[in-house]
Amino acid sequence: MRSLMQAHGLTRSFDVDAGLFKPRRTLHAVNGLDLRIERGDVLGIVGESGCGKSTLARMLLGLTPPSSGHITLEGEDIRRLDRRALARRVQPVFQDPYSSLNPRRSIASIVALPLEVHGLGSAAERRSKAIDMLERVGLPARYADHTPGQLSGGQRQRVAIARALVMRPEIVICDEPTSALDVSVQAQILNLLLDLRREFGLTYVFISHNLAVVEHIATQVAVMYLGRIVESAATASLFRQPQHPYTQALLASVLTPEPGRGIPDTGLGLAFPDPLNPPPGCPFHPRCAQRVAACSTQAPALATRPQGAVACHLHHPIASRPAA
Ligand code: SF4
Repeated sequence: MRSLMQAHGLTRSFDVDAGLFKPRRTLHAVNGLDLRIERGDVLGIVGESGCGKSTLARMLLGLTPPSSGHITLEGEDIRRLDRRALARRVQPVFQDPYSSLNPRRSIASIVALPLEVHGLGSAAERRSKAIDMLERVGLPARYADHTPGQLSGGQRQRVAIARALVMRPEIVICDEPTSALDVSVQAQILNLLLDLRREFGLTYVFISHNLAVVEHIATQVAVMYLGRIVESAATASLFRQPQHPYTQALLASVLTPEPGRGIPDTGLGLAFPDPLNPPPGCPFHPRCAQRVAACSTQAPALATRPQGAVACHLHHPIASRPAA
């Protein structure tokens, strides 16, 4: 069966300054990643800061082109869709609602803007649709002529969600949508997203460094490490029986609600490796307590198993692989 959205061998590299008098280096933010997003799913993508989650989000939105590989939407390469056609079907909700909302515009005009850009309806119809959507996300019509600066962080994120949904997209890419909010407000926004998913039949890609949040909202989880997926499975299975040593360490860690802080205590012993100088072999091997001799020289493939997929020699022994 064809997936709603699929990534095939997705790679994104950036040339970056490595320092004074040093040649520029290549950073592989996303490195040969395959992904399937089924209609109606909430695919949680987790990993530490710098693992490539946000670059992946921008590629799924068509905002950053892949260096190689491609993304399909119901089988069609998104590069063949014009920007507007893609935006009608795939919309974002970002971490910081304040920076993504024009501070000089009214709330109703912010939510109506996508309709205006796509030339849909009269000004009165657009305003009416915007107010309907604001009410649906829990902001009464009396807020319509407020500006973002007059709202709390949680209210601003509701505005960002209303703006994303006013075009009735099929997929919403949520990049740390609750990380900047107080814990009590986080729960309200997560529950709102779940209600909206049921009401509008939405599919979410939900990117977060917070496993507790992902466990609450996701139906499927993919764990990223240095630009690759190292494990994916149904949420209940992954949280009950994590297979990859990195996933096991994440689940054993103490998570922080603070955005941008990553995971403070993974029990992994070593800091996150320099993405400009990734380790050879399995990229996790310098931090892995279960590594074997081959781990420092041979990268494990992402092998499919009945309960999901995992990239680790322990689950896909080198000796049992067919000769190349
Ligand atoms: Fe650890 Fe080796 Fe598995 Fe990598 S392949 S996670 S180093 S055991």
